[in-house]
Amino acid sequence: MPLKVEFLGTGGAITTPVPGCECRLCTQAREKGVPYSRAGPSLFVHGPDVLIDTPEEISYQLNRSSVRRISACFYSHWHPDHVMGRRVWEMNKDWRGWPRRNSCTDVYIPEHVARDFRERLGTWEHLAFLEAQGLVRLVELSEGEVVRSGATEIRPIRLAESYAYAFLFAETSKRLLVVPDELLGWEPSADLQGVDLAVLPMGIVEFDPFSGDRRIHQDHWLLRSEATFRQTLAIVEKLQAKRVVLTHIEEPDGLSYDDLRRLEDLLREDGLSIRFAFDTLVAEV
Ligand SMILES: [Zn+2]
Ligand SMILES: [Zn+2]
Repeated sequence: MPLKVEFLGTGGAITTPVPGCECRLCTQAREKGVPYSRAGPSLFVHGPDVLIDTPEEISYQLNRSSVRRISACFYSHWHPDHVMGRRVWEMNKDWRGWPRRNSCTDVYIPEHVARDFRERLGTWEHLAFLEAQGLVRLVELSEGEVVRSGATEIRPIRLAESYAYAFLFAETSKRLLVVPDELLGWEPSADLQGVDLAVLPMGIVEFDPFSGDRRIHQDHWLLRSEATFRQTLAIVEKLQAKRVVLTHIEEPDGLSYDDLRRLEDLLREDGLSIRFAFDTLVAEV
């Protein structure tokens, strides 16, 4: 089966709509739903059937998706928007049969993520609780270790924000790069150049992409912890991927589905072929 990415959720730490928010974006998302609404950051790679990250809406996201079988999950980093749906693994539990016939999913955790999971948000404690019930099998990956799933090799890549990882999916003729979040300061290595599809976080919209007006104060702490949209575009130029899809789109950045379509046109005029993801989008690699 060819590699395919299904975007389960394309919001960032702040999903759309925000409860109680009456802004243009949230009102529209509440009325129209997908593609205007955005749930937490998660995607599924068809082929190896790998899930990346579990935001709190993951059960709902999986139910509306075309995903039927998850062979493994990889976690990119410890941040709450990427892990808080951990209870999804209870779907493996046989609640009524006796003796129990649970299913079990392999959960891969890169070394530094495992370290953070032990110290942050009780994530390791919770995953170990699920493992003790036989619902997941936790696999810590040491630096440089790759995972093979059928015809696909999956390589975690540590980012400049060294607590977070990207993942390279490689088959004989196709390569898919997924960076779920945390692009700040990253210089893609030469061997990543020319991947068939790169999925990257959009970054913070420091300047209005249409008017060029500054939208965030230059001293704002956010600009020291997150890559901006302009920095993301610079990384896109370096990567020279055949196709690029941007995701992890934050509600406070104020760009609706229609605005992003307009931005796609504007970028195309500049010679950049970039798509913005929306929930339920499926992209072939
Ligand atoms: Zn995030
Ligand atoms: Zn809003």
